[in-house]
Amino acid sequence: MNNDTDTIAAIITPPGRGGVGIVRVCGKTIEPFIAPLLGGTKLAPRMAVYRPFLDGNGEDIDRGLALYFPAPGSYTGEETLELHGHGGPVVMDRLLQRVISIGARQARPGEFSERAFLNGKLDLAQAEAVADLIEATTEQAAQGAARTLRGQFSRRIDTLRESLVQLRVYVEAAIDFPEEEIDFLSDGKVERDLHALSRQITELLQQTSQGVLLTEGMAVAIAGKPNAGKSSLLNMLAGYDRAIVTDVPGTTRDILMEQINLDGLPVRIIDTAGLRDSLDPVEQEGIRRAWQQITEADQILWVVDSSIGAELAAPIWPEYQQRFPGGNNVTVVLNKIDLRADQPKIERHGSQHHPTIAISAQTGEGVNSLRDHLKMAAGFTGASEGLFTARRRHLSALEYARASIELAVRHLQGVAAGELVAEELRQAQNQLEEITGMTSSDDLLGVIFSSFCIGK
Ligand code: GDP
Repeated sequence: MNNDTDTIAAIITPPGRGGVGIVRVCGKTIEPFIAPLLGGTKLAPRMAVYRPFLDGNGEDIDRGLALYFPAPGSYTGEETLELHGHGGPVVMDRLLQRVISIGARQARPGEFSERAFLNGKLDLAQAEAVADLIEATTEQAAQGAARTLRGQFSRRIDTLRESLVQLRVYVEAAIDFPEEEIDFLSDGKVERDLHALSRQITELLQQTSQGVLLTEGMAVAIAGKPNAGKSSLLNMLAGYDRAIVTDVPGTTRDILMEQINLDGLPVRIIDTAGLRDSLDPVEQEGIRRAWQQITEADQILWVVDSSIGAELAAPIWPEYQQRFPGGNNVTVVLNKIDLRADQPKIERHGSQHHPTIAISAQTGEGVNSLRDHLKMAAGFTGASEGLFTARRRHLSALEYARASIELAVRHLQGVAAGELVAEELRQAQNQLEEITGMTSSDDLLGVIFSSFCIGK
């Protein structure tokens, strides 16, 4: 049980105005809040009762529903009181301040979920899925987060961990009987089991990387010369007129961001200001920001007006080409093919062989191929059955675990050193346990839960 049992409170509904707003209070006991706040006696478990919410002078702050969840049958596993009042920022804030004046303290971001984890209501991957479900921007991402929250990912980790522990026990037993150690280790079982583990981790890694894509999505920057059709492409991909399209060069002066959904893959599209030399300080600032976005994006769509022959000959300006980080995530989009009778041809220069896709941002021709290309570039294989969300830290833990298993195979094949094999297995087990939080450092928990919002 969590030892940190001071009573915490927060507004758990989003800021702003709505029909209902909720303040949650939770800790070792909620007893001290009942008489002064609700003006009555005990609350029956899980029964909504209509009560006044009283201030220090016994006057109503609001009236609403009070709900009591006795421990351990609550989200956090602790005694919990929920006050459902009217969802206005002032009334909610007054209610929270009142609860604090009686003896609660404002909850830190993610503290409810952290307590749920510390009290064993959720494992760490599930607690992360709570945040991912709330943040989900596509239906598939939300479904995937719900699966992780239900424990689908954690069960896969636990199954792997169990096989690993069994093998570890076998190897440790061999070490304990040194005269038989070599027989134990060279009878083929250990090596077979290690290979099987490595295969299982590889399979889970594939699904986990899809899960990370669902959680994180992909950032795509649309860049190119003014008037190439960048804003038109953004509108086409977004499915509605998001950006102002004009034939006056330099209309996009700031960065426009749009969230789109590519068969479940969340994609942030960034339309960057027309990149050209300019003396206008506003435009210069837009261009500076554009470059920053380009540097950070996962994919760059470099849009070219293919109706201008000269542009086709050297689709990317040499002076810009050198600024692409790595250059391997650039796709050349030959736009305005509707204006050309013949199919656009592209001549490649130098060592840069960027994939090229011909489209019309006006008629939509070729845009579906571009969508498929983006999914492929991200490595997203599409919404398969049972997709679950995951995070980058899960991916790297699985990679470390697999590396340890592979090292164990080498130790076994080399000098059949039981102790080294056992040590690698221990390391792999630790990695798997960090995913679900069976073993975790305070630092890791701090990083994870502090990224939650207040009230989660
Ligand atoms: P940006 O400056 O790169 O954002 O370019 P815009 O999207 O504002 O487009 C510049 C001009 O080109 C506008 O007049 C658009 O209507 C036109 N345009 C953009 N894409 C196409 C296309 O595929 N075909 C044709 N014919 N015109 C286009």
